[in-house]
Order: sequence, then C-alpha cells, then structure tokens
Amino acid sequence: MLTLRGSGPRRGSSLSNLDLIEDGALLVREGVISAVGTRGQVEALPEARAAEKLNLGGRVALPGFVDSHTHLVHAASRAEEYELKIQGASYEEIARKGGGILNSVKKLRAATSEDLKKRALAALKQFAAHGTTTVEAKSGYGLDVASELKILKLHKELAAEQPLEIASTFLGAHVVPEEFRNKKAGGAKRYIQLLEENLLPAVAEHKLAEFCDVFCDRGAFSVAESKCVLQSGRQWGLAPRMHAEQLSRTGATRLAVLLRAASCDHLEQVNASDISALAKSNTVATLLPGCDFHLGLKKYAPARALIDAGAIVALATDYNPGTSPTLSMPMILSLACTQLRMTPAEAITAATINAAYSLRREKLIGSLEVGKQADLAVFEVADYREIPYYFGVNHCWMTLKRGRVIHAAQDSRN
Ligand SMILES: [Zn+2]
Repeated sequence: MLTLRGSGPRRGSSLSNLDLIEDGALLVREGVISAVGTRGQVEALPEARAAEKLNLGGRVALPGFVDSHTHLVHAASRAEEYELKIQGASYEEIARKGGGILNSVKKLRAATSEDLKKRALAALKQFAAHGTTTVEAKSGYGLDVASELKILKLHKELAAEQPLEIASTFLGAHVVPEEFRNKKAGGAKRYIQLLEENLLPAVAEHKLAEFCDVFCDRGAFSVAESKCVLQSGRQWGLAPRMHAEQLSRTGATRLAVLLRAASCDHLEQVNASDISALAKSNTVATLLPGCDFHLGLKKYAPARALIDAGAIVALATDYNPGTSPTLSMPMILSLACTQLRMTPAEAITAATINAAYSLRREKLIGSLEVGKQADLAVFEVADYREIPYYFGVNHCWMTLKRGRVIHAAQDSRN
C-alpha cells in the first residue's frame, strides 16, 4: 500500500517518498480513513472487529488519482483533425482554418445539455475504471454566456449524480470566439468585457466554479489580457490557474507566480528563470505529456529541471478532444516516465498528493491518512513500478470513492 503520507506538497527528492507499507491495511468509517498501518496493526484495533472486510488480495493499493486538468464537457471528438495533423498540418494552422478549439465551440453550442451529459457520464465511468477518483473540469467550449453556463451547470449536476468528485473551473478565456474576432466586434478587449460584466458575476452568483483559468499563449490571450481576467475572477472568489508556455514562451508562468495561482499548466516552453520562479512559489507546475504525445511533438516539459529546482510538480491528462483525448492516468504515468524521465515513484506522487494541492483539496484527498477520504485505486500488479511499466493496458482492478466501490474489474466480482 502506497500511502503518500506526509506534510506539505512534495518537492525535489521528497517526490520519491511514497511511504510504502508492505501488507498494509486501512480502517474506514463513513467514507473517511480512521486508521492506517500494517494489516496486523489495523486488525488488532477494537474498532476493526465489527468492520466489513474487503480483501485486496496482495495487489497494489494507492490513493485514487487526482486528475487536475481536464476539459470534461465537450460535444465530439476531432478525429478528422487528427488525420490532418498526421499529414503535416500544425495545430495552429488547423486553428486558423476554423478547426481546433473553435470547431469544438461550434459543436458544443449546437449540442443539447442531455447529449453533453451522456458523453461526460460515460467518460467519468472510464476515469473511475482507470483509478481516478477526483477530476477537475473546465468550461471553455461555450464562449458565450448561455453556453458557458450550460457547461458549468453540467459540472454541478454531474458532481451530484455520479460518485467522482468534480472541481469546476471557469475557462471563458480559452480563445476569443469567432463573433468577436473582427475589429468592428471589438476583438479580445470586448470579449473580456463580456466575461467580466456578464459571465463572472453569474458564475459567482450560482457558485458554478472554484477556479478561473486562462489560455495565455500565441493565438489565445496575452499576458496583460490574462492578468485582467484572472484578477476579475479573483474578485468574484475564483482562484487563478493558467495554461502557460505551451506553444510559445509568453511570460505566463511569471504572471501565475505573481498572482499566486493554484496551478500553472503545460510549461513545454519554460526557460530557466521561469523554473526558478516556480521553484520558489507555491504554484503547482502541472505537466500534461498526453498533449505532446498526441500532437506528435518532440519537446516535452522539462520535468527533471523542475523537480531538481524544487517546484511542486503534478501530472494530469488534459482530457480534451483536440490535443489529448485520453482519460487514462496510468498512460500519463507511462509517458511521464519514458518522456519526462520521472521515476515511477515521482510520477505517482505527481498524480496524487501534488495534484490534490493544485486543487486545494490536500486536506481531503491525495494520500491515505487518518481523516482523509477513503479514495483508493487498486492495481492488478505485484510492484507499483508496473503501473507505468505496462502501457496501453488497464490494470486497474478496483476503485473506491469515500470507501465505496465505484469500479471493479470483471474478475473481482466472483
Ligand atoms: Zn487544457
């Protein structure tokens, strides 16, 4: 059992500390962990005598994955663009032709809440089947008042109607929508005004999000524009997060640190000064290798330099139809090991406790310790290193959320 117990987010060499207990056990009461130790220790507790027993059969158990960056609600895949990209078109070329994010916006605006919900529910089931117990979800494919609120309301409904926990993020500043793009329509400036005057107040009034995110990059929003949006978000009680330095280096990371953002995500193009700024901050550096893998890019984020400098590194899927259509955290761990040169232990830490910090839920999730939720992923492997070692196969045997089994592999039912 990998407990990941300890205090504070993991930096540097402490990312390797999984606090592994051989033949470990947990005692759970009303979904909350009330004891952690070896099986002998836990079974000897008087409270354990009457407890219902769940035998994990010597498999590897760890905290459920915390997927801290997803674009959960979207209407359709973009398989047609995938083919174009393979034939040589760049992500930005496709975006200029009305593909990319704007393509997803068109489809989302046309979709009914019912259809969007059905798709998201199916995805959440798959997240759970791969060991994930908490999912962050961003809006950002609506880009008008009604459609953005449609997505955020769905986050709330989904959180209430299925077992996975959902952290909702408002990403109205994903890109400038088509109808604002010409000069007469006012461009980014006029769109940001709409976000500030119409959307943010509604999001806050109905408590539809905890975080405000901005895609700060070439072809999206500038550092100055991002600052306006994130500061307005904060005034409405939303903590900042950012998409930063993915396609180009803009200085977004420095802004994230300055605003004490909860998380700064992507980071493929960061330079040495960005790395040292992150290392000195409490802003989590969230890496999304699924994105570079799917786009066939050679340049991944410099995970080793970030860890060695002391940044709080997390990993997430970036589940979205354009650049990272995966909801498998084990696959992300495989990529983190082979492409980012993280060790299996570092990757597991980044996908659990450090990701919990990025969602400001570290007191509830991300490790197996007394007082936290009994959120667990159990893998059909003999050694935790086999979780990233096998790729493209799902070895998740059982997933528990707040002590309840929410996924069980076929063979675990008999
Ligand atoms: Zn993203």
